[in-house]
Amino acid sequence: MNSPRFNRTTESLRLAQALATCALPLNWRTRFAPAPTGYLHLGHVVNAVHVWGSARAHGGQVVLRLEDHDRTRCRPVFERALLDDLDWLGFVPDIGATDEFRAGDTVLRQSSNPARFHLALNHLATRELEYGCVCTRKDIAEIAGDRSGDEIPYPGTCATAHHDTAIARRVRVSNEAERFDDVRLGPQSQVPRTQCGDFLVRDRNGNFTYQLCVTVDDWDQRIDLIIRGEDLLSSTGRQLQLARVLGRGAPPRFMHHQLLLRADGIKLSKSLGDTGIREMREAGLSRDQVLGRAAFACGLTNREFALSHDEITGLFA
Ligand code: GLU
Repeated sequence: MNSPRFNRTTESLRLAQALATCALPLNWRTRFAPAPTGYLHLGHVVNAVHVWGSARAHGGQVVLRLEDHDRTRCRPVFERALLDDLDWLGFVPDIGATDEFRAGDTVLRQSSNPARFHLALNHLATRELEYGCVCTRKDIAEIAGDRSGDEIPYPGTCATAHHDTAIARRVRVSNEAERFDDVRLGPQSQVPRTQCGDFLVRDRNGNFTYQLCVTVDDWDQRIDLIIRGEDLLSSTGRQLQLARVLGRGAPPRFMHHQLLLRADGIKLSKSLGDTGIREMREAGLSRDQVLGRAAFACGLTNREFALSHDEITGLFA
C-alpha cells in the first residue's frame, strides 16, 4: 500500500514480505518490554512501531512487559511516565495493561514474580550449569587487557573455584555456535563462548540479570517472535542457548530492526524537542506527528509525515 502522501521505503516492503512468509503460528505473540529506568524516547517508539505494526498487520498479539528486574535502577516515576506516554501514543497491548485500575488485565512487571527466576537458577544449579563468581569488573578487565569498546568474554576465573555461597552466579556456556534465522537479517551464527563467555544470571547485588529475566519471561509468556533493535542482536545467541538449557523446546523467532538513523532530514536536536516523548508532548507535537517521526527516523518512510496507527500498520502489510 502506498499512501498518496508518502512512499514506502524498500525497508518497509522488505519487512512486510519477511513477516508474511515467516510462518508464524495463529495468534502469535510478540512483546514490548521497556525497562522503567528512564523516560520514553524516540528509540522506544521506533521499537513500538515495529512491534505493534507487525502484530496488527499479521495477526499477532502484543504483550506489554515492564522489565524492572534491576531494582537499583528502576523508579516508580519512570514507570508511571512510561505507561502514560504509551497510552498517549495509543499503543494498546493485548496482554498486560497500561493502567493498574482499568478493568481486566494488570500491569505485568518482572518484579511481581521473582520466584520464576529463582526456579530457573535452581534448574541450572541442579544440573551444575551455573557457579558462583567473586570477580569484579576490574578483575576481569585486568585479565582481558585493554579491549575498549569490545565486550570482554569472561575468562572463567571462578569456573572451578566452588564459590558456593557467592551471590553473583554465572551460567556455563557451551562451545557451540548458535544459529538462527532472523526474520529481517536472515541466517545468523553466534558463539557465546567467544562473545561473552560464561555470563551473569544474577549479579553481586542479588539482581537477576537482563539475560536471565528476558529469557525466562519470553518463554513464560509464550512469545513467538521477539521484535527488537539491532543493538540487541549480539544477545540473541546466548538467550537461545540459555532458553534451551532451561528446557524451552521450541525457540522463539527474532526480528532485529533498524535503530534510529540520524538521517540528514531529521533533527533529533533540543530545538525539535530532543528525542524524549515528554519533551515532544510539551512542545505541542501530536501523537501522529511523533509516530511519523519515529517511522521516518528508522527508515520506514521516505519523508517525515504525521502517521495514524492504521498507516503504521500499513507499513508492515
Ligand atoms: N528491556 C530491554 C530494553 O529496554 C528490552 C529487551 C529486549 O527487547 O530483549 O532495552
